[in-house]
Amino acid sequence: VAAYTGRVKLQVIARPDLGQRLGLVTDAGIRDLTATTGARDVGELLASGRQLTTDDAGKLIDPDSAELRAPITRPGKIICVGLNYHDHCREQGIQPPAYPMLFAKFGNAIASPGQPVVRPRATEKLDLECELAVVIGRRVSRIGPEEVPAAIFGYTILNDITMRDLQHEDRQWLRAKGSDGFAPIGPVVVTADELGDVGDLRLRSSVNGETWQDSTTAEMIFDVPTLVAFASRSITLEPGDIIATGTPAGVGHFHDPPRYLHHGDLLRCEIAGIGVLENRVLDELPRADDHAAAAGVAELMELAR
Ligand code: MG
Repeated sequence: VAAYTGRVKLQVIARPDLGQRLGLVTDAGIRDLTATTGARDVGELLASGRQLTTDDAGKLIDPDSAELRAPITRPGKIICVGLNYHDHCREQGIQPPAYPMLFAKFGNAIASPGQPVVRPRATEKLDLECELAVVIGRRVSRIGPEEVPAAIFGYTILNDITMRDLQHEDRQWLRAKGSDGFAPIGPVVVTADELGDVGDLRLRSSVNGETWQDSTTAEMIFDVPTLVAFASRSITLEPGDIIATGTPAGVGHFHDPPRYLHHGDLLRCEIAGIGVLENRVLDELPRADDHAAAAGVAELMELAR
């Protein structure tokens, strides 16, 4: 059995008659890996420890009525990095941090390509952040930067959806960035050797076709080996864990005047060599003038009294 070199793109799709399937993206179409491996997403494949071989490439799946799904449905961890681009620090007029600023999202935040991003009643300042996301391939702890390439399975795109009003009021970012569906990922996971050097990849985002972000990973303050090694000092990384590596300049909050996302807006995040991740904003209704009241803060505090 010839082994795959590892240079593959993996995609997860769902079809009403087949359910969710892990697919191998080929020139001929998507081949069914769930039939041959039992894994229904990239996370399950990595957790199984199974190495893909050419024998695993199942039949072509008829793409009719198939929908894209998040390539990793239930990551054990989503570790995010704040303030990791020089141009993003410059647009805020702040100094780059001395070491990586880590925060977390949870599995509830995962959303699929094409799935609506619901704008909660709790915000009037919804924003996007296009980010390169690392997919961990093996269990590692306290590794050095030189050991990081062997720990990485591949890469995808993550849109770090953020409520700027809550981000500032809460002074930490759990609600602002951790709400349901605030981490759309996809459209594929590209293996590290297929993607190649990630030191100068073009990242772009747009809203309704208008460019917001257009930068490169060369603007990163801490590169991928440094970020992964740093995180592993405190947190054991597991197969299928995701590390979102921060966002470049151009997010709506730092436009002059600031701009935010509204019902119907089409969000597009693109990274060279990975693809395009699109989601549309859908308002939670009814809207409220007072976002704090809408978030239930006043009501809950009254009840607690
Ligand atoms: Mg971010």
